[in-house]
Amino acid sequence: MSLRLYNTRTRAVEPFAPLVDGNVRMYVCGLTPSAEAHLGHARSFLFFDVLRRYLAHPRNGYAVTYVQNVTDIDDRSIAAAQREGVSVEAVVAKYYGAFKAAMRTLGVREPDLEPYATQHIDAIVDMIAALVADGFAYATGDGVYFAVKTFPRYGELSHRNVDELLVGARIAENEQKHDPLDFALWKLAKPGEPAWPAPWGPGRPGWHIECSAMSHELLGEPFDIHGGGYDLIFPHHENEIAQSEALLPPHTHMANVWVHGGLLNFDGKKMSKSLGNFEPLTEVLRRLDPLAIRLLFLQTGYRKPMNFTEDAFGGATLGLERIRKAYEALAPVAGRAAGSDPRVDALSERFFGALDDDMNTAGAVGVIFDAVALAGKLDDAGGAAAARAFLLDALTVLGIGEALERERAVAAVAPVDPAIVDRLRAALGDVVAINGEGPDGAIARAIGARNAARKARDFALADRVRNALAAEGIVLTDGKDGTTWTVAGG
Ligand SMILES: [Zn+2]
Repeated sequence: MSLRLYNTRTRAVEPFAPLVDGNVRMYVCGLTPSAEAHLGHARSFLFFDVLRRYLAHPRNGYAVTYVQNVTDIDDRSIAAAQREGVSVEAVVAKYYGAFKAAMRTLGVREPDLEPYATQHIDAIVDMIAALVADGFAYATGDGVYFAVKTFPRYGELSHRNVDELLVGARIAENEQKHDPLDFALWKLAKPGEPAWPAPWGPGRPGWHIECSAMSHELLGEPFDIHGGGYDLIFPHHENEIAQSEALLPPHTHMANVWVHGGLLNFDGKKMSKSLGNFEPLTEVLRRLDPLAIRLLFLQTGYRKPMNFTEDAFGGATLGLERIRKAYEALAPVAGRAAGSDPRVDALSERFFGALDDDMNTAGAVGVIFDAVALAGKLDDAGGAAAARAFLLDALTVLGIGEALERERAVAAVAPVDPAIVDRLRAALGDVVAINGEGPDGAIARAIGARNAARKARDFALADRVRNALAAEGIVLTDGKDGTTWTVAGG
């Protein structure tokens, strides 16, 4: 069996094969940094990180080009800049910086290409000009709009037709478009707004055209996988298809497979600022173990809506501790040649079989726990080495393996007094959750809290954490790849 993926456009689970042998070109809609990112963003990007890891894993062996854009000009970031009395660039730098730090904390790999919309204005203007020249778009007194009526396949992705979509659609008072479904490609600047030159007058691009123009420029059409959250299917991705495919030869698709991740609810409610259940991701990561968040998200199918509760998180934390302990217990066989063990081979087949089945990460995590249970029973070194090799490989696809290896590496250098856990909890328990971890986990949690505090420019808190660790003889070193620690005099 090989990888099959659910394609939103065809509403079917299809065998996945790259359009160009051995290469996968993938575009995932990135962040609009106009406010703090939240856990819902983390869920979506974590899933695409795992999909990307699996595509590149030797089992598939694809060279993946992963593009994730940055919508660095948008009505919301302009509004935030005006509200906060700073430039749009400052708004983007602040929120995008925090988001990137959070992604690193969660072990999400960097995109291969990370195009900022404002750095691709020429490509965007060219694409709009082509749409106008071919009769798919028109200019008005406030900008340029895409004429949805000119694109008969509109609604194909979201499986809705234009008549259904028209119900309740209105033209806002400040918009000069001809038809309620038409959408802005170019918005003429109002006084004081950031603007770039264009044939229709100085202004800025609409959100949808940015993705069409940048994916065209960086990947070309058709590319293999277009991803995003479920809430982007309509109108964002529907509009991307209309813009891109209007300019392509008939029957050519913009993307071969459309993959959408389910949304995250918070204690049964949609997460939103107005409900007051919107906790910035940087704060969540200060409070909760990022690896446990990863495990929790992967325990739900990526397409399903998911409900985040503190109880479910507690369960994932305990599960992660079981994985950590089993992995630590296998440390003596690290570096040994892995023998072949039929029980481990069977687990491996089931693990990758689950991922092949439309990225059933919940099933795959279930197999990890079976491997944890088996590891406790293996009494031969060859079998234990096989189990360890499998766990490292499988957990690395899930984005957990490297972190466990890092924890093990620091533990190997410096054995630490186990009572440090209780003392750190007493010193820092009000700012960082230290629960069932061993000494290394507790130190890692404290370091995570310090780094989050530094990102949030709360230097008093960052110093407090550093001092609490120093009191235990733990010396921190900040480097390019993060913070490492050693035991003073050890
Ligand atoms: Zn997009």
